[in-house]
Amino acid sequence: MTYRPEPGQLPNRSEVPVRYTWDLGDICRGWDEWTAGYRELDAAVAAFKARQGTLATGPGALIEAFRAMDHMGALSYRVWYYASLRYDEDQRNNEINARRQQVQILFARQQQAGAWFNPELLAIPLETIRGWMATLPDLALYRFAIESLFHEQEHVLDERGERLLSYASRSGSVSHDSYAALTTADMKPPAVTLGDGERVTLSYGQYRALLETNRNQADRAAAYRAFHQVYADNRNTYAALYNGVLQRDWFHARARGYDSTLQAALHGNNIPTSVVETLIRVTKEGVEPLRRYHRLRRRVLGLDAYRLFDVFIPLVWHDARYAYDDVAPWIVDAVAPLGPDYQQHVREAFAGRWIDVFENDGKRSGAYSAPVYGAHPYMLLNYNETLDAIFTLAHEMGHSMHTLLAHQTQPFVYAGYTIFVAEVPSTLSEALFLDFMLERAQTRDQRAVLLQHAIDSITSTFYTQVMFADFELQAHRLVEQDQPITAEVLSGIYDTLLREYYGDVLDEEPLSSVTWARIPHFFSTPYYVYQYATCFASTARLMQDLRSSDGPTRTAGVGRYLSLLRAGGSGYPMDLLRTAGIDLSQADTVRAVASELDVLVSRLEAELNGA
Ligand SMILES: [Zn+2]
Repeated sequence: MTYRPEPGQLPNRSEVPVRYTWDLGDICRGWDEWTAGYRELDAAVAAFKARQGTLATGPGALIEAFRAMDHMGALSYRVWYYASLRYDEDQRNNEINARRQQVQILFARQQQAGAWFNPELLAIPLETIRGWMATLPDLALYRFAIESLFHEQEHVLDERGERLLSYASRSGSVSHDSYAALTTADMKPPAVTLGDGERVTLSYGQYRALLETNRNQADRAAAYRAFHQVYADNRNTYAALYNGVLQRDWFHARARGYDSTLQAALHGNNIPTSVVETLIRVTKEGVEPLRRYHRLRRRVLGLDAYRLFDVFIPLVWHDARYAYDDVAPWIVDAVAPLGPDYQQHVREAFAGRWIDVFENDGKRSGAYSAPVYGAHPYMLLNYNETLDAIFTLAHEMGHSMHTLLAHQTQPFVYAGYTIFVAEVPSTLSEALFLDFMLERAQTRDQRAVLLQHAIDSITSTFYTQVMFADFELQAHRLVEQDQPITAEVLSGIYDTLLREYYGDVLDEEPLSSVTWARIPHFFSTPYYVYQYATCFASTARLMQDLRSSDGPTRTAGVGRYLSLLRAGGSGYPMDLLRTAGIDLSQADTVRAVASELDVLVSRLEAELNGA
């Protein structure tokens, strides 16, 4: 019998039929097995310390040490995820929370016990290790792990320098911590009175919900202005805090001998700075479809003036609900272009209870895919039958298939993958699902809703993130050129960017220029968000082949894509993507997104005009 959640009601976990819950028995059969695993890991951690001082004695000791680390790593996955996933089922459970924390404490000990490894390995000349690898294939397996460690080492200082940097690192987080305190703990959320007399306090969640659902433009304007006024009122403080972030980044870049903050941020993944520069340049050249979309919105919404608070409201209202039992087979059908084996894996994910589907009292919010090495990926959802929920399912399934194929193919050391490639399979999975849903949509409204969903994900995941990356790069460059950082300067950059991206489609709104103060990523993780955009571009490029009318092009594209998934983390992301036929240094790759948006906007226009 089909189970469907009742909107507004939160069941106890025991009320949700078992077949909609995940079966964690594939990780551990119960707490006894978990305890045994925990003890085994604990012992392995203690034993690892004894290897200190052995690495230089020869390749045998080095292989043994690598294998010991793999063993600990594989155990860590099972011990951590069993406790962590059980905890997420009901986060009110203190007993499980304590076990989860117990694992975290063990992990900290594991890190300390292994802290000697990298410096000791790096003390051996790379040429010596290369000689060992040439004679021992078992050691050569670890080639990329070893070479990339030496690559990172290029900017590591001597012991005195590293000690100095570690002292400085404690003050390096003060700007971000102050930002967090000012924005959450000390923030007094503004309140507004809506047109119907209702008084609303604007947390970020409520603010976003209002912008997405309130059909009264005056209400949206009031909420937007009240929300941004708080940032405007504190703009000098925010600018000072952001200056702290910029100065820290430039200090670290210079201390480690990089030419720029961008180079420092990209060195670990071995990504040339030109990738980000090309991304920004080509995106700016391709803003016309973005503007066309917003012109269409202004017209369809019938607004005389159109501002940033009007960009989230749907063009077509719909209240379609998607029962999970209906959607599951669609998710399987949608990936048919990737071949029968891939489809079979997806079927297995549903049949094998890899997914925890519905919300229950105490369950963790949101959605994720957990890469449990030694078992299989697990997915946590809070499936609520909305359009967003079905695309989230497609998204997490993409992550899970990446994990599955990488784990099946790679040795432990390369089973994980970096964020730089991680969002390719998830967004590609969504793109395939969109194609499938558009194909089977019956009415104009259904198609329009799907098209808008796809367009909005391109504008928010691609254009907005590139604009953010653009802002970060410009702000960092000012500091690198000894230029002052003030609220006026930062708002000036943001204002110019809004004009460069949106042109004249947005009407004047002075408060929009203070948006930079509201974006937590700028303060917490500089030079991070561009990776969403590069993943999006990679997916758009791959989809060109997957949608091709030419059979051989399609087959070759699928083959390259699956080999990317199987590659896991066995190389630098740019190299892995290149073997999948994606060259992020090429402008054409980035242009694929603008072309795709152009097609989607035209289709949406046609649907809406045909009304
Ligand atoms: Zn994701």
